[in-house]
Amino acid sequence: MLIVNGPVEDAEHEEFGHPERPDRLIAALAGISDLDLGDDLTVLTPYAATRAELARVHQGAYLDELGAYCYAGGGNIDADTYATYDSWSIARYAAGAGIAVIDELRRVGTGVGFIAARPPGHHALADRAMGFCLLNNIAVAAASLTALGERVLIVDWDVHHGNGTQSIFWNDPNVLYVSAHQWPLFPGSGGSREIGGFDALGGIVNIPVPAGTTGDVMLRALDDVVAPAVAQFSPTWVLVSAGFDAHRGDPLADLALTSGDFAMMANRVAQFAPGPGRLALFLEGGYDLAALRASVAGTLGALLDCDYAPEEASSGGPGQEQVLRAANERLIAIHMAEDSRPEED
Ligand SMILES: [Zn+2]
Repeated sequence: MLIVNGPVEDAEHEEFGHPERPDRLIAALAGISDLDLGDDLTVLTPYAATRAELARVHQGAYLDELGAYCYAGGGNIDADTYATYDSWSIARYAAGAGIAVIDELRRVGTGVGFIAARPPGHHALADRAMGFCLLNNIAVAAASLTALGERVLIVDWDVHHGNGTQSIFWNDPNVLYVSAHQWPLFPGSGGSREIGGFDALGGIVNIPVPAGTTGDVMLRALDDVVAPAVAQFSPTWVLVSAGFDAHRGDPLADLALTSGDFAMMANRVAQFAPGPGRLALFLEGGYDLAALRASVAGTLGALLDCDYAPEEASSGGPGQEQVLRAANERLIAIHMAEDSRPEED
């Protein structure tokens, strides 16, 4: 069973020539249609996040400012990030989508959730829009779960580091944030020595990989680096920042993944969930429409055991050495931080 958030008219969140455009969502939804799910697809009623739900991760002053900016007509918040008159409303629905999907997963106790919404979220900080992102959709959803006492694993396989999500949960012992991303690349953060604050040492796992990295390297990173950290953390929920801009066809980055790689990564990540009905994937980046469609279909098709053949998995690229080095540097950084932990009062 696939549970998807309800559709929202998002055509007015657009800037001419900008890669983060309404056609992306149409492509992602076409990927779902390609699976012919029939009765195995549940589409929910749209839900906009409330101020209290947003305020779990965003500062009130930022929410006021963003709302006012949009109602004044919007514009360019920074060199990459735009907002229009309608963006405040559209972004609140994108941020509420995860909450609605998780509520339904909790109600039925089975299935996989997919949040097909834009604008994306993982670069949005507590107090600032950034990198095409206005509100941090996955962080809002994760915070709704930790408020219920859940322990949340966030796996971010978007090609960019999710600096906003990392920053929001930096010192939160109830969230394990894992990101594999191309480096160097926007936003520039995501080094292996970024491991979390003193209340959550080791709660951040960053795996920077070079241009050309293939799927075999990503799978080994999941098996050798991520799986042990996940076993130690013992999540009760798994959320995925499922950007598809690590696909070899993407115009914004240079990794070499295929839809077949995303399918295999999805199966690995699903095994991190402690039981059924505790996995939800959030659309983040992905700017080549055909690659996005195929990757959404490949990912969800694998998780739902559909009769859908994705592209062949990729292998033989660089990155293995960098993954091992990142794993070592991370462990050393954790030990050093533990040694320098301030005394309790
Ligand atoms: Zn991205």
